[in-house]
Amino acid sequence: MARHCGAMAAVLWARLGTGCLSRWLWGWHLSLGLPAVRLAHAGATKQLQQEYDAVVIGAGHNGLVAAAYLQRAGLRTAVLEKRHVLGGAAVTEEIVPGFKFSRASYLLSLLRPQIYTELELQRHGLRVFLRDPYSFTPLLEDRSCPRSLLLGHDMAQTQQQIAQFSQKDAQAYPEYEVFMGVLVSALDQLLDAPPVDTAALGQGSLLQRLRALRALRPLLRAGTGSHLGTAMQSHTTSPSPGLTLGRQLPRYYEVLTAPISKILDQWFESEPLKATLATDAVIGAMASPHTPGSGYVLLHHVMGELEGRKGAWGYVAGGMGALSQAIACAATAQGAHIFTEKVVCQVLLGRNGQVQGVALQDGTEVKSKLVLSNASPQITFLELTPQEQLPKDFVQRIQQVDTRSPVTKINVAVDRLPSFLAAPNACDGQPLPHHQCSIHLNCESTHLLHQAFTEASHGHPSSRPMIELCIPSALDPGLAPWGCHVVSLFTQYTPSVLAGGQPWDEQARNAYADTVFDCIEAYAPGFKASVIGRDILTPPDLERIFGLPSGNIFHGGMSLDQLYFARPAPSYSGYRSPVPGLYLCGSGAHPGGGVMGAAGRNAAQVALEDFRDL
Ligand SMILES: Cc1cc2nc3c(=O)[nH]c(=O)nc-3n(C[C@H](O)[C@H](O)[C@H](O)COP(=O)(O)OP(=O)(O)OC[C@H]3O[C@@H](n4cnc5c(N)ncnc54)[C@H](O)[C@@H]3O)c2cc1C
Repeated sequence: MARHCGAMAAVLWARLGTGCLSRWLWGWHLSLGLPAVRLAHAGATKQLQQEYDAVVIGAGHNGLVAAAYLQRAGLRTAVLEKRHVLGGAAVTEEIVPGFKFSRASYLLSLLRPQIYTELELQRHGLRVFLRDPYSFTPLLEDRSCPRSLLLGHDMAQTQQQIAQFSQKDAQAYPEYEVFMGVLVSALDQLLDAPPVDTAALGQGSLLQRLRALRALRPLLRAGTGSHLGTAMQSHTTSPSPGLTLGRQLPRYYEVLTAPISKILDQWFESEPLKATLATDAVIGAMASPHTPGSGYVLLHHVMGELEGRKGAWGYVAGGMGALSQAIACAATAQGAHIFTEKVVCQVLLGRNGQVQGVALQDGTEVKSKLVLSNASPQITFLELTPQEQLPKDFVQRIQQVDTRSPVTKINVAVDRLPSFLAAPNACDGQPLPHHQCSIHLNCESTHLLHQAFTEASHGHPSSRPMIELCIPSALDPGLAPWGCHVVSLFTQYTPSVLAGGQPWDEQARNAYADTVFDCIEAYAPGFKASVIGRDILTPPDLERIFGLPSGNIFHGGMSLDQLYFARPAPSYSGYRSPVPGLYLCGSGAHPGGGVMGAAGRNAAQVALEDFRDL
């Protein structure tokens, strides 16, 4: 996941006061696998209480965000996480001794800016390294010095890079950035509120109708582009004065619904550029650049910002777990109780069907008027909630959510930096600018990406997979022993279910990882010899370890039919569920996956509104 817009490099260091330092070190204990239940000792209590106002199932970043907001509003809140470590898919783990991996997600951009400020995450220890340049695509070419494409926040330099392949594309690129920036700004405000509650609009109480009407506001503003004056100020090039979504709506409608290859073909002619941009449109999706709707996925990955810089992506210092740790600190500082190694096995309901609390695997029952589930919709509604309390059509909708996943993440410990044929290392072996980038391999053309997808859609792992290689230790050397590095390989496409029902056993996992390593070796000879250890996470591994349904990194595909009004199911997109008092607060709800915190924040707001009416 790489991204764009914005300008200038920066390394952002948040103030690290003494109190935060101790929290920081203590956070590392969690990631080292020591019983993370210690977190409770730093909070207000040492013991799980019998009753809370709100219980959050799961300490993914969204669950932690929800807890922080609920507690801030005065509700006694507990978070119950089944793993030994906080953060769900936003976690740091020391899989190879001495090497700290962002084991699942690895790049930050999408986290909603309000959450940074409202939860004071910097004060709670969050530090971020912005990347510039951010994208590097080396080519496998039959030349003495193969070419590469380096994209960064300096537009003139980026245009020079693109001009190696096409002068025309170099000229078009700034305009493309502005065009996409306008759409991103329009959609941005839809992220921070529940989708319009169409059921309430039609037949709710007066209060419910008024609330639903209020939710229409961002949708209308997105359509008219009336807010774009301010939103666009932070983009690199000024839009033409009359450029609003309203007038351009048909063109933007096309971006949302068309295959991204069609959109990119309208703008550009050079394949390395198109393939590099297209990676953001298929990331996490069992989709090819030729799949209709892939344009939306691209937008989802360019709509973030870091420290006010639109579209920028960065590494969290200490790995993604440090973000979860900062959110947890914000929640416990308010008095929330957070526990690990607490497996919720049932949502408890009263005779009237209203939520009463949760039951844990160890037999403990915890009472609460509100239960917010950060677990996937599948776990929440098909495993934890008594089925007889749910409408049949709702259960069927949840069963039918498309959770196919193409992702295998491989975390690698290496004893030196990869040296790419297209940009060889200097003699001292120190990181060069491209080492901080998302390094796109097997991205010479959109056709290659499509081929890789086609193999997987027939049940076979790609023989030439799409690889996004990142080396966070290039900017954050503390992640690995001196001179060594952590390498994150986000790869596609691997089907959740292999052809002929073959198991994803050790042999299959290693065979795929070997294929990936062979590919990297072709771009960076010597890579294989530098490997000290590897952690292979195929879709079934992602499901087993993190609870991601079929390994889907977003708790469910981000296709247009599974977004906004329809996430997780039509008429249930407002975080409430058919069970009064039970809410979804994770990526399976609007606005979907990514380390955004939006679902957690929005769900907390909805639950709070209801709590006041109880
Ligand atoms: C390999 C990979 C790479 C990714 N890369 C990026 C990236 O670079 N940038 C980005 O923005 N996004 C990325 N994503 C997506 C992003 O990480 C997720 O969408 C997001 O972290 C999900 O957050 P969440 O809080 O909604 O849910 P989760 O993180 O899935 O958290 C759910 C929590 O609930 C817990 N739980 C489940 N069942 C129970 C139970 N019965 N009792 C108690 N606890 C339970 C789970 O253990 C888990 O901790 C990536 C995801 C993956 C898997």
